Amino acid sequence: MSSYQAETICIQSGWHPKKGEPRVLPIYQSTTFKYDTSDQMGRLFDLEDSGYFYTRLQNPTNDAVAEKICELEGGAAAMLTSSGQAANYYAVFNICEAGGHIVCSSALYGGTFNLFGATLKKQGIDCTFIDPDAPEEEIAKAFRPNTKALFAETISNPALVVLDIEKFARVAHSHGVPLIVDNTFATPINCRPFEWGADIVTHSTTKYMDGHAVSVGGCIVDSGNFDWEAHADKYPGLTKPDPTYHGIVYTEKFGKGAYITKATSQIMRDLGSIQSPQNAFLLNLGLETLHLRMPRHCENAQKVAEYLDRHEKVAWVNFAGLKSNKYHALAEKYMPNGTCGVISFGLKGGRDVSVGFMDKLKMIAIVTHVADARTCVLHPASHTHRQMTDEQLKEAGVAPDLIRLSVGIENAQDIIGDLEQALETI
Ligand SMILES: *Cc1c(COP(=O)(O)O)cnc(C)c1O
Repeated sequence: MSSYQAETICIQSGWHPKKGEPRVLPIYQSTTFKYDTSDQMGRLFDLEDSGYFYTRLQNPTNDAVAEKICELEGGAAAMLTSSGQAANYYAVFNICEAGGHIVCSSALYGGTFNLFGATLKKQGIDCTFIDPDAPEEEIAKAFRPNTKALFAETISNPALVVLDIEKFARVAHSHGVPLIVDNTFATPINCRPFEWGADIVTHSTTKYMDGHAVSVGGCIVDSGNFDWEAHADKYPGLTKPDPTYHGIVYTEKFGKGAYITKATSQIMRDLGSIQSPQNAFLLNLGLETLHLRMPRHCENAQKVAEYLDRHEKVAWVNFAGLKSNKYHALAEKYMPNGTCGVISFGLKGGRDVSVGFMDKLKMIAIVTHVADARTCVLHPASHTHRQMTDEQLKEAGVAPDLIRLSVGIENAQDIIGDLEQALETI
């Protein structure tokens, strides 16, 4: 693993050209790779040799980018996926099959909530949602003998709940299961969950990592720290022979690489949600400036949150950077350099006023996206959560007047200026 600091890893890691090779990571736009003998190729299919043979399983462009993210997180192995949804699905499905169960924080991205609560259920995997702020004993009650993982987001989207990672790691480990953390909003620039006991980290690289809103993608990073063999009966997929690879045992053959090797050579082989090398190339360009963009996102969001907090027409502001915020202390502990650029707030007068305000914004665009260079807003009650009644919205933790503001890296005064002129009209 690299001994460099995050700034250097963002620029230098992943691609290491040899004499005469391109200085910049090339796009290996090839589905397949050539070998001299049939035997050479055969050994790859047995996982006896490592090497590329088909881009659905591995591609050099993707691997270079996965390695960079792996180093940023301080992990042992990583893989890219076609989306954040695929990353979270594979991260769980790699160790939890029909008949299994997971425990998951209820402060969750809507897509993940549907994936775990509805789609995994159809595949025979049950999920129990728990309040992330509940005491350890309370969370512990959700575990069952067939529980295979605990899942949560470092900073939840859109509720902006900051995770007590050490608490979650303790509960997970005392039940013999890994903690999987979706680190999309914090990014490894602001938080490295492995340092606090998380075992597996996932990302929607679509957000800050890409940072320019040009490509959908995901990533799974394994710390290599969870001892699968100590819980061999619970994780037979990793610790017992795989008949689809002539009976190899992943933990025996690949050690700290077992989890990612299984996810690549088995789950990706069969389900095939690969990231295109073109998108991996674009993601890599984004990663090169992640260490510059994240501090600016946080700095701008802090200024905007303080401005909104002071404004007489604003009913409430949720941003962990504000001293009055419920999660300020947790944010200071786990993310001393800042959390992310996303703020939520509501206006006095409620839902209709919030909607009217958004229509008056000039520079700040109404889009479904978050966490890229351009400031944008979304009204979950009218958009992503449109089908819900006000009562259902409250249960889901989404206030009917909630505006999600993703603060970009423009000049902070220009962002505030646009908010100001729109607030004046209401
Ligand atoms: C957006 C998002 C996802 C889903 O990622 P896609 O790349 O859109 O599939 C998962 N988790 C979090 C926290 C997200 O913000």
